[in-house]
Amino acid sequence: IGQEVLKALKEEISELEYNRYIRHLSYDIKKSTGDAAIFYAPNALVVNWIKNKYREKIAHLFEIKNGSKVNIKITLKNTIEKRKTKKNVEVKQNSSLLNPSHSFDNFMVGGSNQFAYAAVKSVSENAGKVYNPLFIYGGVGLGKTHLMQAAGNVFQNEGKVVIYTTVEQFLNDFIRHVRNKTMERFQEKYRKCDVLLIDDIQFLSNKEGIQEEFFHTFEALKGAGKQIILTADKHPKKIGGLEARLQSRFEWGLVADIQPPELETKIAIIKKKCEINKVKLSEDIVNYIATVIDSNVREIEGILSKLHAYSQLMHVDIDLDFTKNVLKDQMNENRANLTMETITQIVAKDLNIKPSEIRSKGRSKNIVYARRISIYICRELTQNTMPQLAQYFGMKDHTAISHTIKKINSLIKDDEDFKVKIDELTNKITSSS
Ligand code: ADP
Ligand code: MG
Repeated sequence: IGQEVLKALKEEISELEYNRYIRHLSYDIKKSTGDAAIFYAPNALVVNWIKNKYREKIAHLFEIKNGSKVNIKITLKNTIEKRKTKKNVEVKQNSSLLNPSHSFDNFMVGGSNQFAYAAVKSVSENAGKVYNPLFIYGGVGLGKTHLMQAAGNVFQNEGKVVIYTTVEQFLNDFIRHVRNKTMERFQEKYRKCDVLLIDDIQFLSNKEGIQEEFFHTFEALKGAGKQIILTADKHPKKIGGLEARLQSRFEWGLVADIQPPELETKIAIIKKKCEINKVKLSEDIVNYIATVIDSNVREIEGILSKLHAYSQLMHVDIDLDFTKNVLKDQMNENRANLTMETITQIVAKDLNIKPSEIRSKGRSKNIVYARRISIYICRELTQNTMPQLAQYFGMKDHTAISHTIKKINSLIKDDEDFKVKIDELTNKITSSS
């Protein structure tokens, strides 16, 4: 069946796509069973590419041929390679989860991140002595985690005990210890480390229990002169739902921001990533990517690995036309996954109301506010037409939608805070998919 499915897929996609990707897939008849089909791809990048782009199609075709749902597995062909990646994952999980390639050397510095870079670097050379805590904030994909872990790696290489955690992991750990009645162990663990790195601290917002616990951890570490580094997507003052004593402590040391990279920095980052991933790109392609991608550096990485996958498969250099196609693909992909429902949910959560209220006829101020924002973002990020938006949000007709969008546009122009809010939400939504 696997072979037949691949043949059927060939009919559905362009010859170019088939030759580039699907042709390299092989079906494992022996290992596949009635409810699991196993395919091999030549390298990890192709595995990802196929998983993202074709897995659903393959599953669908299987279901048609097979009559029942089949779990599609796409894995690496080379077992040695497979073993290697598996081992890496294990090592990662055992250590404190620091990514070794997040180093200062691999971090490109420009006007946008100079201040944060200098602050983290200085802390990495003077643990607990200069800025404590160090608080780094900025938008998605601008390098906060990278910088924080760069310091972590320095400390770890010096033999210090480093804990790197996200608020979510910290919270889960806390809950587990409460449940097992082993809170002393939890406290010991977090208070006995030399360096504590907590990522995305904005998620402490409105979680009183963990804020209380974190406060005591903070006091103990700070009192003992242990270094604390925190990151967030906004300034401590702007994180709502935070105890005053925590908010003020976050500003005790140094608060440093990271701004979106300017063109030269983006170019430097792309070149660095090419060097690390052994991708060869000409100057005009590097410049093209840097101009098209607006700020999220993570997106740059996705594009590079796609370009890389292609050049490896075809044994050719990457040209500008192909780059343009991959970029278009990427943008469409990011957006195709976004539905009005997802957007409404994220907006509702952010503004503390129910998604159903946004779609209701409710006229109270905060509901109208949330509805307008949702409509605006849906218009920006999805392909839905004005009548479709009107129907979804229970508005009279397309003129009501166009009126709303005009209103939001003028608010964005006049109110810097509002613009930041919209950007933040848009960021949150696009990075959720
Ligand atoms: P954030 O935590 O701010 O969302 P990350 O630290 O996860 O962002 O960065 C996203 C990706 O971009 C990472 O792979 C990181 O290595 C890369 N990156 C971001 N800024 C830089 C930079 N200035 N130089 C090199 N790589 C960068
Ligand atoms: Mg991060």
